[in-house]
Amino acid sequence: MTVVEYFSGLFGGIKSLLVGMSVTWVELWKKKVTEQYPENRATLVIPERTRGELTMPRVSACTACGLCQLNCPNGTIQVISNTVETEDGKKKKVLEQYLYDLGKCTFCNLCVLSCSQNAIAFANTFENAMFTREKLNRKLN
Ligand code: SF4
Ligand code: SF4
Repeated sequence: MTVVEYFSGLFGGIKSLLVGMSVTWVELWKKKVTEQYPENRATLVIPERTRGELTMPRVSACTACGLCQLNCPNGTIQVISNTVETEDGKKKKVLEQYLYDLGKCTFCNLCVLSCSQNAIAFANTFENAMFTREKLNRKLN
């Protein structure tokens, strides 16, 4: 290594250090975006569109068609239905149980998109930590 190469490497290193330090200095005074969760639980703002867990806000709208179950890629949903006879003698499916396993859900939203009745939707509630997976099985209706 020549003397020129030595000093050019040395000054290059010092310049790089100063650039890094200047970035650190600027960032030091910027408004912090880090959330202090769970200390800030009371003031925490979760975006409306966050997919926390599947809910069924319009139970009566569900026709028990089973499309959400069919479109779910990993068997998270189970639609249990009954067939009843209406007053005019026609057969009609009615929802008996709508089972959802939060532990399996990948939050892909395919079920919601496939529901023409808008019976199901994602809620932005996210605090679902449990000690056993069984507790993540939900009956939504
Ligand atoms: S979000 Fe995806 S994985 Fe979860 S229940 Fe719906 S279709 Fe299934
Ligand atoms: S939630 Fe929607 S897609 Fe699923 S069974 Fe009910 S009506 Fe059909």
